[in-house]
Amino acid sequence: MRALQLTAWGKPAELRDVPIPTPGPGQVVLKVAGAGACHSDLHLMEWPEGTLPWQLPFTLGHENAGIVHALGAGVTGIREGDAMLVYGPWGCSHCAPCRLGRENYCDNAASIPASGGGLGRDGGMADYMLVPSSRLLVPLGSLDPVQAAPLTDAALTPYHAIKAALPSLVPGSTAVVIGAGGLGQSAVQLLRAISASQVVVIDKSETHLQKARELGAHRAYPSGESTRADVRALTANRGADLVLDMVGSNDTLALGASLLRAQGRLVIIGLAMGSLPLNFFAVPYGAQVSTSYWGTVTELMELVALAQQGSLRIPVETFPLDRAMHAYDELRAGRITGRGVVVP
Ligand SMILES: [Zn+2]
Ligand SMILES: [Zn+2]
Repeated sequence: MRALQLTAWGKPAELRDVPIPTPGPGQVVLKVAGAGACHSDLHLMEWPEGTLPWQLPFTLGHENAGIVHALGAGVTGIREGDAMLVYGPWGCSHCAPCRLGRENYCDNAASIPASGGGLGRDGGMADYMLVPSSRLLVPLGSLDPVQAAPLTDAALTPYHAIKAALPSLVPGSTAVVIGAGGLGQSAVQLLRAISASQVVVIDKSETHLQKARELGAHRAYPSGESTRADVRALTANRGADLVLDMVGSNDTLALGASLLRAQGRLVIIGLAMGSLPLNFFAVPYGAQVSTSYWGTVTELMELVALAQQGSLRIPVETFPLDRAMHAYDELRAGRITGRGVVVP
């Protein structure tokens, strides 16, 4: 079968011919229906050797949906032909966070040789994908697997961050989303679907801003000199209760911190690896700065329900597997307004 594999650090991935995996006990092989091209894969391909503790080669693609193709011994409760999402962060399965479905915060993450399919183990940018346990599968029901693949990351990551802040997102509150690419567009819809917040989006691209308005943002501003004043004016000078930074650069972190309300929360989601100098007076009193990593398996189930009721729709642009690198090129150039999904 074909698989888009990372074979050397600091180099683009390449399409290779590899054997179709066979499932061992408890494992499942999916025929891949869709694999999202995530911005973090661009970082992954650029980072030098030694940044991550993973063995090469492995197949990219950590945002996956597929059809059950083969079941290993002892797998019960699912059948060949079922449409499934793959929960992306693969933990140890037996620590307390894993048993609560929070494998994104596995206590043993540092001692596991990979973070998931497409992240050190073979992912979904291939004709078939081996999933090491049926516990990592979430049924898709009537959703189209190509459209639904981005739920597993582009929607799950902002959903997890928003849910953590939900008690503060009361009527009269303001949530700011910096960066309106795939994750930002999901964040806008999710904030509108589950919170009462006024939703403000900041981005450099007018195309992204327009998309954010269409998806329900109350306000969408180009980033620039007046951004801080604009948001202050909009919130009667209070500032934002929640800022989601989908970029994570020096500039966006500084902007995000400057927009916070007292006791507000700045969440770093993007992997641009910027820094925010922090001291007692760097943020308003009581403000929190945190990272947020991916989401829980039960939150992924909630997203399937949200998509089924029509409250979440991620615009998808499809690419054939032999054009997968082109999807990443388009992503890098900012020419994909929703999510690029590779369809083998
Ligand atoms: Zn991702
Ligand atoms: Zn664990």
